[in-house]
Amino acid sequence: MAILSVENLSKNYGAIKALKGISFSVPAGSVFGILGPNGSGKTTLLGIVMSVLKASGGGYKLFDEEPNDAHRKKIGTLLETPNFYHYLSAVQNLNITAAIKGRGEDDIDRVLEVVNLTQRKNSPFSSYSLGMKQRLAIGAALLGNPDVLVFDEPTNGLDPVGIAEIRSLIKKLSQQGKTIIMASHLLDEVEKVCTHVAILKQGDLKASGNVNEIFVHEDIVELAAENIDQLDTVLNEMQGYTKKTKDDGTIQLYYPQGQVKLDAINSFCFNKGLTLNHLHMKKKSLESKFFELTN
Ligand code: ATP
Repeated sequence: MAILSVENLSKNYGAIKALKGISFSVPAGSVFGILGPNGSGKTTLLGIVMSVLKASGGGYKLFDEEPNDAHRKKIGTLLETPNFYHYLSAVQNLNITAAIKGRGEDDIDRVLEVVNLTQRKNSPFSSYSLGMKQRLAIGAALLGNPDVLVFDEPTNGLDPVGIAEIRSLIKKLSQQGKTIIMASHLLDEVEKVCTHVAILKQGDLKASGNVNEIFVHEDIVELAAENIDQLDTVLNEMQGYTKKTKDDGTIQLYYPQGQVKLDAINSFCFNKGLTLNHLHMKKKSLESKFFELTN
């Protein structure tokens, strides 16, 4: 089942095209990252799905059905920092949130346990670190134990310790069987916590799917010889690489990570009567892959 499927969705703010007809779907049980630089349309997308904004075109389904409020009740959201009362404790704040949402009044102790705030549940919100505040915000989204969670930039503004806490919390929720949809501008974050990703740039979908398939880890070998065309022909007979490209004076061979054997390439060419004058291995970083996708 798809938890969310987006079909040719678009959104214009006047002349600004924030979403330009994007389609993808979120499988049940995934941790789905919506990755893109600032202004790429992530918040707009989540706002439409949660019915805070109206789409300009296209549509989407929740749980394979036309979306309605009953569906949204099954989704816990953290779209912007909630307004907690500074002088009230975690318990008191969650009581208020539960009353406003009309769900989870009897779920507060469980939620505090999940977000690891039980020990500090009676301290005033103003005494919390940023990381604890964010954990409480996630706790508010967990009230009533929804199966699906939607988080917009859940680690924004946190220090490394706070970031690590939120990431392990997301993993824990995923292990409990929750589907999590999270917007992020951090490639590293999506790579570390997400199973699936949709990459947005200026309202366009650049790629979507399984993280391992989208962020293929590749090694690239760069080679050259006196006669580059002859080298190109010889390399057509060689096996093991997944892709070959050629620019001005060099040829690039792409390999799955860790499978390059430079000496084997060298002797293959030598046995074909070709002397290489350049043989160099470049690691392709995830960053360069991301920039290739978004630039
Ligand atoms: P960020 O990470 O900065 O929040 P984002 O990827 O979430 O970025 P959006 O906030 O969805 O992106 O914005 C997408 C585009 O739509 C941007 O060009 C933004 O300036 C524009 N935009 C967003 N909200 C409005 C609005 N209410 N009125 C006009 N333009 C808007």
